[in-house]
Amino acid sequence: MANPVIYCDFDGTITESDNIIAIMKKFAPPEWEAIKDQILSQQISIRQGVGRLFSLLPIDRREEITKYAIENAKIRAGFKEFVEFTREAGIPLYIVSGGIDFFVHPILSEYHPFTGIYCNESDFSDKKIRILWPNECDSLCNNDCGCCKPSIIRKLNHQNSFKIVIGDSVTDLEAAKHADFVLARDLLQEKCQEWGINHHGFKTFFDCIEEIKKRIEVGELTC
Ligand code: MG
Ligand code: ZN
Repeated sequence: MANPVIYCDFDGTITESDNIIAIMKKFAPPEWEAIKDQILSQQISIRQGVGRLFSLLPIDRREEITKYAIENAKIRAGFKEFVEFTREAGIPLYIVSGGIDFFVHPILSEYHPFTGIYCNESDFSDKKIRILWPNECDSLCNNDCGCCKPSIIRKLNHQNSFKIVIGDSVTDLEAAKHADFVLARDLLQEKCQEWGINHHGFKTFFDCIEEIKKRIEVGELTC
């Protein structure tokens, strides 16, 4: 028996699709596609790639980009209920996101408070958008993640807790390897199968509530 703690991804998990891709499609000049391909083929790191993508966007479009990102984001079904469930059960819920503060915080604001929110930050003081990286890789990760999820989990140091990671993509894989249990969709689900990681698939956050409740009922988790 252990107390659960949850680390939940944002883009493609809490929101139905990736907000950075949506912003680039709408506002970036065509060369963004080549940078995206370099990230996906791992020719450049996520930190380098995301930094380059945002450096294509002039800061005078700040309001327009922010407004678009917030209005365009569709929240996955059951998220509100999931947040309420964790709060009532007293389960710590951390959001760990490779997204950027200017859209992550406003989109999450109506679901506050969370135990913690970790994401990248932005600087609009120059001509182009500059991304800041307050959660860079520690000495145990050489992946140049940008927002390093395993480093955050190590720093939070919930050693005796039952760690649950919720996510959708390869950017969650390193965190998933540190988890006791993973709720996965899309590419992360395939990767969990490939790596033999203890996981269950999900489509909505109602599925996540069910899976966690089951483990509480059988006494695997205590809250
Ligand atoms: Mg994601
Ligand atoms: Zn890292």
